[in-house]
Amino acid sequence: MAVEGFVQTTEGGTVLLVPPDSLTSKVPPKTPAFFNPVARLSRDLSITAYRAYLPSLKSKTFADGFAGVGARALRVATEIPEIDAVYVNDINATAIGAAKQAAKLNLIEGRCHFSTNEVCKFLMQGTEEGDRFGIVDLDPFGTPARHIDCVLRGALGGGLVSVTATDTAVLCGIYPEVCLRRYYGRPLNNSYGNETAIRLMLSLIALTASRLELAIRPIFVHATMHYMRVYATVSVSSSQANVVYSNIGYVLHCFQCGHRIKVAEYEEKKCDLCGSLMRVGGQLWTGAVHDKEFVRRMVELDNGRQSKKVLEAAEEELGDIPYYFKADEISSKLRTNPHSVQKIIEKLRSSGFAASRTALNPGAFKTDARLDMILSTLK
Ligand SMILES: [Zn+2]
Repeated sequence: MAVEGFVQTTEGGTVLLVPPDSLTSKVPPKTPAFFNPVARLSRDLSITAYRAYLPSLKSKTFADGFAGVGARALRVATEIPEIDAVYVNDINATAIGAAKQAAKLNLIEGRCHFSTNEVCKFLMQGTEEGDRFGIVDLDPFGTPARHIDCVLRGALGGGLVSVTATDTAVLCGIYPEVCLRRYYGRPLNNSYGNETAIRLMLSLIALTASRLELAIRPIFVHATMHYMRVYATVSVSSSQANVVYSNIGYVLHCFQCGHRIKVAEYEEKKCDLCGSLMRVGGQLWTGAVHDKEFVRRMVELDNGRQSKKVLEAAEEELGDIPYYFKADEISSKLRTNPHSVQKIIEKLRSSGFAASRTALNPGAFKTDARLDMILSTLK
């Protein structure tokens, strides 16, 4: 059965069938099916992440609830032969038709299962044997918030969930009231808004998990202009669920001078540097966002130029500092020519501070130095 009007494209060694418009238009159309070639980096990184997680997987099964034409799911089946079964679901039958056809072209149809269910119904049904899935991926249009329960309930204990959010305007602070109702936390519309966004997502996933007697542990996160993406392991543990709040807190930001701090409890506080009232971001995840050993394994397995950069930054990132500083933000405060991120990191380290790159912004750095100390160090 040919899928009318669809064309072949190859990504990462996997043949995909996609609407021709999706390869040429700036914003890929949602009909007859959605495919975004620009999201390749996200898919490249997910292949590497799933490969790195293979040794920990009890059930080598993968489920994609919003599979579209199967860009991620078919790549998993083709590029990770160790995965026994790939469950490819999308409510759009045309998209699933294209995915089926492409599975044949890649000679993987024997390991692929296709369905056109509503996403939560799909995730609740589990595998053919009625088991939960080893890896559950959720990459919806817009917010993942309404599906987090199903994602967690669809994953096996010891399994992995990967979740994308594309409601970046909401998470980065353009619509704070929408963010509060979707993620139970306040965003910060500032220079590190995407990190606050990632941590708002993580806190929603962690708190939802705790309500289900589950615990999550983030092992890798990354973001671009257009999406945020998190990877977290899921374990069945009421004792770990009991301590979920040890990783939930707030970030206070001074919009007057740029000072920022992490606090455990909600508080209205005046800025230590300029005396203005600080704005509260959160509740949000304040714990580590990368598992160093896992990311190191990803670095070893990865062979993309762009993805390598993200991973190497993640490997050194001070992941439990919930904010970063942009190099140009610091330079403009110093009224100097832009400093390179690497130079800034070297100077801070030689003055005795911890400093690192961040996977969330190539033009930024993290440090345990306070803003005034950063400025005096770089002067
Ligand atoms: Zn201030």
